[in-house]
Amino acid sequence: MDKILNYVDGRLCEPAGGAFVEKVNPATGRAHALMPDSGPPDVDAAVSAAAAALPAWSERAPAARAEVLRGLAARLEARSDEFARAESVDTGKLLTLSSRMDIPRSIGMLRFYADLIVQGDSGLPLESSTVPDPKAVNRTIYQPLGVVACITPWNLPLYLLIWKAAPALAAGNCVVAKPSENSPMTAYLFSALCAEAGLPPGVLNVIHGAGPKLGPALVTHPKVAGISFTGSTAAGAEISKLAAPLFKRLSLEMGGKNATVVFADADYAGALDSALKAAFLNQGQFCLAGSRILVEKSLYARFRDDLVAKARELRPGDPLAPASAQGAIASRAQLDKIANYVALARKEGGNVLLGGKRVVLAPPFEQGFYHLPTVIEGLSVSSTVNQEEIFGPVVTIAPFASDDEAIELANGTRYGLTASVFTSDSGRANRVARALAAGTVWINCWLVRDVRVPFGGMKDSGVGREGGLYSLRFFTEPKNVCTREG
Ligand code: NAD
Repeated sequence: MDKILNYVDGRLCEPAGGAFVEKVNPATGRAHALMPDSGPPDVDAAVSAAAAALPAWSERAPAARAEVLRGLAARLEARSDEFARAESVDTGKLLTLSSRMDIPRSIGMLRFYADLIVQGDSGLPLESSTVPDPKAVNRTIYQPLGVVACITPWNLPLYLLIWKAAPALAAGNCVVAKPSENSPMTAYLFSALCAEAGLPPGVLNVIHGAGPKLGPALVTHPKVAGISFTGSTAAGAEISKLAAPLFKRLSLEMGGKNATVVFADADYAGALDSALKAAFLNQGQFCLAGSRILVEKSLYARFRDDLVAKARELRPGDPLAPASAQGAIASRAQLDKIANYVALARKEGGNVLLGGKRVVLAPPFEQGFYHLPTVIEGLSVSSTVNQEEIFGPVVTIAPFASDDEAIELANGTRYGLTASVFTSDSGRANRVARALAAGTVWINCWLVRDVRVPFGGMKDSGVGREGGLYSLRFFTEPKNVCTREG
C-alpha cells in the first residue's frame, strides 16, 4: 500500500504523532494508501518553515520564481499519465476526465502564473500605479501577503491546489497547503516534485489530515496572514468565524446549486448536451454542476424525456476504463449523503424519473461507491432537495412560464455560484444574465473557463474572486509609497 507523507521544510515526513489512517479507493471500496493523520504540531512546523523561507523567497526576482514554476510544470507534464491515474484512483473520477482536464489544466496554470508574474515593469503586473501631485508622488506597490494557507476540497484535488498555490508562490508568498483528506494522493506526489524543481525548503508545505482537526490551528496561526479556501459553505462559515476576529485576509470559494435555464428558442441539441454534462460530469461532484434544470413550458416535456433517455446511457463503471460513462462517488459518506437526498426527494413529493439508487458492479468493484444518474421532477423551488447542495449525480427538472419566472426560480436559493442560459435571442440572454445572482453566467455553454476571468460566488457561494490578476491581488498587499517632491 502507498504511504502518503507530509511535506515540511523541503522534506517528506511522517506526522509528529506518527498516526496514519487508511485511504479508500472509491472504485473498489478497499484501502489503497495510508495517509497521515496530522495534528496541530504538524501545522505549526509547516507554518514555521514557511515563515523562515519567506524573506528569501519574497526577495527573489519574479523571473527566478517563474523559472521554478516552469520547472514544476515540466516535471508534472513528464509524469502526467501517472498523476492522472493517481487522481482517478484516489477520487473515483474517470481517467478520461483527469487526463483531459485536471492534470493538463494544472500544468497550464503553473505556466500561466510563471508568464504573468514577469509581465509588470518591475516584476509584478499589478505594480507601479503612480499618482502625481504637485507636492508628492504616490506610488502603489504590491508586496506578498506572507505565509498563506490554501485549503482545498476533493473534487478537483490537484487542480484546485495549484489554482491557489501557483499565484501565491508566483507573487512571493510561502504556502501551507491543506488538501482534502478524501483526496490526498496527487498533492503528495506533487510535493515530491518540489525539491527536484528547485523550490527552496519551506516555500511550499503540505499537511494531510482531517479538516476540523487541522483547520483551526492553521486558520488561527499568528504567522498565517491569509487563507484561501475552497470547499463547502458550512466549512467556509467555520473558517470565517475563526479568522474574522484575527483580521486575516480571506477568500472563500464555496458551494453551489446552479441553474441551467433553457428557453424554447434555444439550439435544442446544444442545450440538451450541455444540460446533461452540467448535471453529470464527474458524477455531479462539481461546484459548477447545473443541478437544477429549468425549461420553458412549451419545450418541457420533450426536453425532459430526451434528458432522461440520454442520462440512462451514462452507466457507472470502472473509472480507469475508457468506455465508462460515469465513475465512482468519492467516498462512502458522500454516497450515503446522495442516497439520503434521493429518499428526501421522494418524501417531498418528487417523482424520480430515472435512477434514484446505488448500483453494485461486478467484482472487483462490488464494494465500490456507485450511484445511477438520477433525474427528479415535481419538486418546488423551496423543497430541501432544490435548496441544498447534493454534490452527486442528481438533477431536478422543472418548467417555467416566463423570463421573470425563470429568473425567480434560478435565483431562489442561498447560493450564487454559476448559471447557464440557453436561448437564441441575444437580447434576452443578456437581460437574464444581468438579472441572475451568480458569479459566472454562461450563455449557450457550460464550463468554458479562462484562467484570466474573475471566478467566485455571490451570496453563500463565496466571498471575493480568484483567477488571473484577481488571485495575485488576493495574495498581495497593496502599499502606497508617498515621496515628497522638491
Ligand atoms: P469541505 O468543506 O468538507 O472540505 C474542504 C476542505 O476544507 C478540506 O480540505 C477539509 O479538510 C477542510 N475543512 C473542513 N472543515 C474545516 C474546518 N472546520 N476548518 C478548516 N478546514 C476545514 O468540502 P468538500 O466536501 O471537500 O468539497 C465539496 C464542497 O466544495 C462543495 O460544497 C463544493 O461546492 C465546494 N467546491 C467549491 C468550489 C468553488 O470554486 N466554489 C470548487 C470545488 C468545490
